[in-house]
Amino acid sequence: MTATILDGKAVAARVKEEVAAAVAEMPRKPGLATVLVGDDPASHTYVRGKRNDAAEVGIRSIHHEIDASISQDELHALIDSLNADEDVDGILIQLPLPGGLDGEAAVERIDPRKDVDGLHPFNLGRLVLDRPGLRPCTPSGVMRILDHHGISVSGKRAVVIGRSFLVGRPLALMLSARGADATVTLAHSRTVDLADLARSADILVAAVGVPRMVTADFVAPGATVIDVGINRVDGKLVGDVAFDEVAEVAGSITPVPGGVGPMTRAMLLVNTLTAARS
Ligand code: NAP
Repeated sequence: MTATILDGKAVAARVKEEVAAAVAEMPRKPGLATVLVGDDPASHTYVRGKRNDAAEVGIRSIHHEIDASISQDELHALIDSLNADEDVDGILIQLPLPGGLDGEAAVERIDPRKDVDGLHPFNLGRLVLDRPGLRPCTPSGVMRILDHHGISVSGKRAVVIGRSFLVGRPLALMLSARGADATVTLAHSRTVDLADLARSADILVAAVGVPRMVTADFVAPGATVIDVGINRVDGKLVGDVAFDEVAEVAGSITPVPGGVGPMTRAMLLVNTLTAARS
């Protein structure tokens, strides 16, 4: 293997230390409200992880576990009460919500100043406008990994595969924002000659959800490859990048697990701190 491994776990540990140090200085500890609806095991695991992370850095956790039979109106009433609660700085609604409930409407109900997932249209709008605001955690985590490893994207060609509002689209905006200054192509399932396009990238991001789709022929020698994908294959977590073969061509690469995943969790803590300070 020739590529340098971009260790997201180590960067996330550093970010958590920074957040913990900042929280320790605060007379009132930031509060993160988590709202978990229904009994999806994966959602329970994710929320438990987020609450543990919060506890580790001194962020207070206010947890609401709710039966899937809740109505949209009742859910909105809970969000309204969290919006009004001065002890709550950040609100996280674990998505997806169980059938019948509208996750987008629930996220829109959150006070944008408490929207620590950065997915409220107000915050996404501020991202489009290149103005400060709470940013989605996964793309923020990608930017932080690059920055930590001294990988400047300025003037570079970036190809982002995947255009979801959660990852690919906001990441394309962040990479091309003033100050970051990459030239970005946003690819998706209708993109033609995807491997050729991907090979033109200095920075290649895969946020697709197709296990090991990005093979060595997608990658220019020396390119930086960021694998956002989390897929379970035969009980094992694998990314969207065929790690072993791509690591022979790329200059640097994030592993799965241990790459972007831990950064997503760490950036939620950063957003909670930011929300508490504003
Ligand atoms: P998503 O909403 O399903 O979006 C997937 C995107 O990939 C879509 O834009 C889709 O194109 C595109 N796509 C699908 N098949 C393709 C193909 N064969 N060629 C090119 N593009 C293709 O998924 P997401 O929420 O962005 O998540 C993507 C992956 O990241 C998943 O594995 C997810 O588990 C993972 N993820 C990881 C983290 C983390 O913390 N590491 C966080 C969030 C998500 P169309 O728009 O044309 O359909």
